[in-house]
Amino acid sequence: MFFNRLLGFLGKDLAMDLGTANTLLYTPKQGIVLNEPSVVAYETPSNRIIAVGASAKELVGRTPGNIVTVRPMKDGVIADFDVTKAMISYFIHKVITGLKFVKPRMVICVPTGITAVEKRAVIESGLDAGAREVLMIEEPMAAAIGAGCPIHEPTGTMVVDIGGGTSEVAVISMGAIAYAESVRAAGDWMNATVQRFFQERHQLFISENMAEAVKIGIGSAYPLPEPLKMNVPGKDVIGGGPKSVVSTDEEIRQALQEPVKTIVRAVRKALEKTPPELVVDVARNGILLAGGGALLKGLDQLIQRNTNIRVNVDDDPLTTVVRGTGRSLEDMQRYKNVYIN
Ligand code: ADP
Ligand code: MG
Repeated sequence: MFFNRLLGFLGKDLAMDLGTANTLLYTPKQGIVLNEPSVVAYETPSNRIIAVGASAKELVGRTPGNIVTVRPMKDGVIADFDVTKAMISYFIHKVITGLKFVKPRMVICVPTGITAVEKRAVIESGLDAGAREVLMIEEPMAAAIGAGCPIHEPTGTMVVDIGGGTSEVAVISMGAIAYAESVRAAGDWMNATVQRFFQERHQLFISENMAEAVKIGIGSAYPLPEPLKMNVPGKDVIGGGPKSVVSTDEEIRQALQEPVKTIVRAVRKALEKTPPELVVDVARNGILLAGGGALLKGLDQLIQRNTNIRVNVDDDPLTTVVRGTGRSLEDMQRYKNVYIN
């Protein structure tokens, strides 16, 4: 086991998807070696970190006053530089135990339209966390590679990556991004609309984590073949005591309308802005859905109905981007042109 690890890291390459919701690490020999929420819990005023990743996410909404949980990537880019650095460094050291003298080369994927300052922050966090070199790849490109799309060919591929903070819509052709736009309509907003829905409709306060569980459990963007129900516990708005209500897919579909509509609108706008030749290609190849939001039930059907284009959800949309980023490392010769400066 240890020797496998050791050999894996003698390859000295590490791919990272530093997402607003989840961070994933991939090494060419082992594949995905880490997949954890991008959450950090620290104590104030000492700023001592007490939990990172899955164990920090469990603390969200449960911490006493002197403990704070943060999502340092919340708005799609690095929102809190120091905490992001600490988080990256924690994750890297979690997977490269015992071999700190061989510094890895890292590829980190970044949103399209990232500013020069933000790029510098990403590079610096990687270097500070122990990388010897940091390369960057744009997320939609990584998603397309991860899903096995023919990115180098002169044919248009449309990628819709629905993450926690943002959804990115991009059209790729001949190894470059021909169109990209990002909207702040993704998983976090969906959770917030579910939370608000329970408060207004059922006079029930629910936590962010509970709202997410409801979305994943019975949320949908399009009527389902079978109705779904879920018991949702929380706190009574009136009086503050414990209370629970039974909710349905129909209710949650209604709650999710605004963010879902915004995503569909972004896809339609991308098609409007894309030249005819590429739209013909996209129609032939289908639209690729990736990111955790791609798992929202019926979202593929809704987009398909609104565009008249077939929609393909990647097999494992939560890992598409990191697998593509890792793939680029495994075949540097083929993919060297996809890195950005
Ligand atoms: P990021 O790249 O921003 O870290 P991810 O691609 O990891 O985001 O996706 C995380 C988002 O996907 C979260 O908002 C999460 O709630 C959502 N998600 C995960 N699984 C599902 C599901 N089955 N249905 C709907 N949304 C989901
Ligand atoms: Mg992502």
